[in-house]
Formats: sequence, C-alpha cells, structure tokens
Amino acid sequence: MVSPLSVMAKPAYGGNAINVYSQRTDAPVTHSIEDNTAIRRQTKGSERSRVAIIIDDFGNKMRGTDEMLSLPVKITVAVMPFLPTSVSDARRAHERGFDVLLHLPMEPRHGKPEWLGPGAVLAKMSDEEIRQRVEAALDNIPYAIGINNHMGSRVTGDERVMGIVLNVCKERGLFFVDSKTNYRSVVGKIAQEKGLPRVENHIFLDDLHTSSHVLKQMRLVQEHALEQHYCITIGHVGLQGKETAAGIRSGIAEMRNSVEFVGISDLVKEEWKWNPGPKFP
Ligand SMILES: [Zn+2]
Repeated sequence: MVSPLSVMAKPAYGGNAINVYSQRTDAPVTHSIEDNTAIRRQTKGSERSRVAIIIDDFGNKMRGTDEMLSLPVKITVAVMPFLPTSVSDARRAHERGFDVLLHLPMEPRHGKPEWLGPGAVLAKMSDEEIRQRVEAALDNIPYAIGINNHMGSRVTGDERVMGIVLNVCKERGLFFVDSKTNYRSVVGKIAQEKGLPRVENHIFLDDLHTSSHVLKQMRLVQEHALEQHYCITIGHVGLQGKETAAGIRSGIAEMRNSVEFVGISDLVKEEWKWNPGPKFP
C-alpha cells in the first residue's frame, strides 16, 4: 500500500492555478448529473465494505469541479473558505446530496505561504486568533459537517493549535478528518481525548497526476476497504482535476459491485457511532 504520509497536500491557491483555469476550454461536462435516487440507494446500510472519497481544494473555480460534482456516487466535497466559488461550490455539492467539509488552510512545515489562501491557521497565532479564524471559516462554508486540513504539516503536529481547532469542532457538533500530511500528527490523539471520532485519510489518489495512476490508487482503496471494512481516500480538484475525476470515475465503474461508496458522515456515524449535529444556516 502506498503510504499517504509521504505525500504533501498540493497547493490549491496561487497564480498558476488561476492562470491555467482562465486558459481552459469550457468544454461541456460530458456526464450528465444522474438521478439522486441511485446515490440514496447506495448509501442505505449494508454489510458491504465502504469507501469515502473526499475531494479537496474546491472554492477557487478549480479545474475538474464540474466533473467531480457529476460523479455517479456520493462523495465528500472539501471547500476552502473566502474564495470566489467557496459558497457556490458548497451549495452545489449539498444540492447534489454530497457531504461538505470546510477545507481549512493550515500552516505547513515547508511550502509557500501564498499556497495557503485566505483565513489560514498559523502556529504563531494566539489562542483567540486561532478560534476566530476557525469560526469565521466555518461560518463561510454552508452545510459543513466537519473540517479537514489543507496542507498543515506544521500545525497538525501542534497540540495547542489542534486543541483549539478540535474544541470548536466539538462545540459545533462537527468532526475533523486528518488528511495525514504529517506523520507526527497529534490530531487523532487529541480527538480521542476529547471524545471526537478519530478519522484519518488512508490513501491519496493523485500523488501522480494521470488518470491511470488514479485508477491504480482506486484499486488500492478497494483492497484496503475489503480488508479493513472501510477506506477513506483523498483526491483534488486543481490543475489535474479532470484527469483525477476521470480516474475516479473508472475506478467507481470497476468497484461498485464490491464496495459501497458513502459520504464521510455515513462512515463516521456507522464506524464511530458518532452522531454529528451540525447547525446548518
Ligand atoms: Zn488542499
């Protein structure tokens, strides 16, 4: 199995991404939005192994957004705050029946600050500043039922910072998904201490940006799910978002008869017996 730990989250926010987007051809989405009943039928309880696909980096008109939002199974959409399509991407995902997470920018050990985007949580901030940032970002993303980290290899190893982030989660009935950009992450340990579910990414889908690599990763996801009863996996919209979406779509077609695709909330409820009670606007 490929370890997700060696793979840093990729920058979603920066001049390049915006440039490439503006040059893209506005080709029509080739796959129409399919009937939601198919998704609902799939998410009914069953004994089959479950897979939760989380797609990160929504919110900045990223390439692959339409392709991801028209995938034929329930996915989880992680949206960065305070960007041009943050609110509309969250709404579209929710209307489609998908789960929404706040994709919270958090300081990495390495990497450029401008990759973080607005509203980022930094290790040097005071307790109060961190709390304000997390609350403001959550308020910006409608329908968010939890948080996962964008980058964050520095702060996910920081007990003080993560303690505050997880306190806000707890107060709001949310959970935190550790993307595992840092193998020294303290998120799981602190979540457990606070009585929150310990939810972690197992496999990054697009550490190489071809649809054939993504399909290979999807097969690893299937293997992991069949062995461990479930698997959480992360892909990205962005420069190679269309290729990633194509690889995921092929993987879904191959795997739908052996595993069940669910939202992260379904997994958290069933595997951790956690009943999140977020308040939607
Ligand atoms: Zn990200």
